[in-house]
Amino acid sequence: GDAILRAEALRAFYALDIYGKTKIIKAVHDVDLAIRENEIYGIAGESGCGKSTLLKALAAAVEPPLRIMGGKVCYRVNGAEIDVAALSQEEKRRLRMTYIAYVPQGSMSVLNPVARIRDTYRDFIESHLDVHQKSDAFILARDHLIELGLPPKILDAYPHQLSGGMRQRVTIALATLLKPRIIIGDEPTTALDVVVQRGVVQLLRDVQSRLKNTIVLVTHDMGVHANIADRIGIMYAGRIVEEAPTERMFSVPTHPYTQYLISSLPRFGDKTPRESVPGSPPSLANPPSGCPFHPRCPHAMEICKREMPGFTPVAPDHRVACWLVEEGSYGKAA
Ligand code: SF4
Ligand code: MG
Repeated sequence: GDAILRAEALRAFYALDIYGKTKIIKAVHDVDLAIRENEIYGIAGESGCGKSTLLKALAAAVEPPLRIMGGKVCYRVNGAEIDVAALSQEEKRRLRMTYIAYVPQGSMSVLNPVARIRDTYRDFIESHLDVHQKSDAFILARDHLIELGLPPKILDAYPHQLSGGMRQRVTIALATLLKPRIIIGDEPTTALDVVVQRGVVQLLRDVQSRLKNTIVLVTHDMGVHANIADRIGIMYAGRIVEEAPTERMFSVPTHPYTQYLISSLPRFGDKTPRESVPGSPPSLANPPSGCPFHPRCPHAMEICKREMPGFTPVAPDHRVACWLVEEGSYGKAA
């Protein structure tokens, strides 16, 4: 279907003042995305590649020192496309949580450690809805938890009394309480053990199938993407370098960086050490020239050092930014 959330040539940089000198961190560079209604879109890449910054820009949660330096983010609201840059603070505030919900990394940044969960829910509800009676807020919170298969008695707990996995679920439930059309989540499963991760992934899938909304999910964990995403965008040094439907991404990874990410995944019953990406991630303050992957790429050619490749479509919905593909050296027939 049509895009509900779109980024066009988006650039978002941090301007940091360090001992009187301005340091520019090019966290998001020329990103084009068209996220569709009802899909789960995964954004993958190593830590420090700009994933969290891209999410903030998509969620209209840009605050200094982060700045939009070019391009735009658009939402489709009730059939009309609106440019986020044209919205007032008040309009953004109204869209937040009711139209678009942003779940930041780390549940403790959302839950108040000294308040019972029910009070956090009540404050949230009162600040977003015209609910004045405590009991209404409580009923809304309780019904929503039941709807998502979570025990309503957790409303009486303090955050520290819940496990990390349950806290994360409570955070997701809170973010989805007002039935936003788009949910944007930053590393919702990170720091949880594998079994607990599965529960959180299942909850996100339940949310998506119940609310029929769109989820954009950032995680460095390709295993999580394999389990939840419909499509995946691979991010490297602030840029999306490959995009494909999930099955296709795992069966025909085409960008050399994606190939490393996928071959480094542990495989069931296979004890041979996995290949990790050689070298270290680039600095976003001083990204390499040309294709930013060239210092780590085993296939790098002269042109890779000079020029950034454009996107080449290699199959329906599958595009890759790599000179090997652009020049037809490989990937075309795959
Ligand atoms: Fe490697 Fe060149 Fe492709 Fe970049 S453009 S991934 S350096 S082959
Ligand atoms: Mg991050």
